[in-house]
Amino acid sequence: MQYANSVLDLIGNTPLVRLSRTLDLAEGGDATAEGGPLVLAKVEYLNPGGSVKDRIATRMIEAAEASGALQPGGTIVEPTSGNTGVGLAMVAQQKGYQCVFVCPDKVSVDKRNVLKAYGAEVVVCPTAVAPEHPDSYYNVSDRLASAPGAWKPDQYSNPHNPRSHYETTGPEIWEQTEGRITHFVCGMGTGGTISGVGRYLKEKNPAIQVIGADPAGSVYSGGTGRPYLVEGVGEDFWPDTYDRGVADRVIEVSDADSFAFTRRLAREEALLVGGSCGMAAWAARQVAQELAGTPEGESAVIVVLLPDSGRGYLTKIFNDEWLAQYGFASGADGDSRTVGEV
Ligand code: PMP
Repeated sequence: MQYANSVLDLIGNTPLVRLSRTLDLAEGGDATAEGGPLVLAKVEYLNPGGSVKDRIATRMIEAAEASGALQPGGTIVEPTSGNTGVGLAMVAQQKGYQCVFVCPDKVSVDKRNVLKAYGAEVVVCPTAVAPEHPDSYYNVSDRLASAPGAWKPDQYSNPHNPRSHYETTGPEIWEQTEGRITHFVCGMGTGGTISGVGRYLKEKNPAIQVIGADPAGSVYSGGTGRPYLVEGVGEDFWPDTYDRGVADRVIEVSDADSFAFTRRLAREEALLVGGSCGMAAWAARQVAQELAGTPEGESAVIVVLLPDSGRGYLTKIFNDEWLAQYGFASGADGDSRTVGEV
């Protein structure tokens, strides 16, 4: 019989799938393994918690167990409501820890309910109070994290975040491409993914180009932290988990391009993924287009990491009204019709 003992054993070893229809390469428009840049997507939504963050959750918790920072019966406290929360909630439940997430009241009820579904507690803080107020997001998470038995993973400074990618994601990509990868493209939030994978790949072959994709406005592409709508990527500060020497190049991507390409991935490649995936894949397509028709392009193997699923964005990126509110196009054909029009 073939089965896993726990969902935790199903984390990682995600597949690579070739992108074809969305690359818009000249001459037939389709890249093949025989010639021209080959673009391969690493599909991280196939992790059991639905994102790349399952990897860091496991590694950070195991390291805290080993160091004694997290004791049996302990409580994990992290100010997050996104993918890292889901990963931590899943691993914590299976290993018998309590989990408390602190989030501002602007976080959607759906996101809070996902965390609660795994058995985590969610503490919601009012956004409309000053940071020094006892009920502020900062004060509540600091108070909970300093309680006896509590441990805060802090994905923005925890070295086991990039290390998990150095130990798993990087080696997987190297082996899956049989060492033929030439370019790695990846979005940056904490910077853990690009730093860990990039370092591993460059140790294997220093010629591999590591390319960051970044929302226009974020510090990684020279911005000041100006707001953007794509979620999970871009920062207004430099996290400790980001290795500033790892990226050979950073490609700036607008919200409009990120969202339009996210929709194309769903509609043309049947990959229902999140907005940071559309952003990274848009940058990978840019690299492929630059390489197409050049001698280097003939043997180029571009791997782009897609961090999460589109399921969490159905009311945003996949909702035409939401897009229209910000002036973004949704793509005309195939849109739903009301019964009266059928
Ligand atoms: N995309 C999404 C949807 C994310 O949640 C994150 C993590 N913040 C990233 C991309 C970026 O990954 P990393 O933190 O490893 O840079």
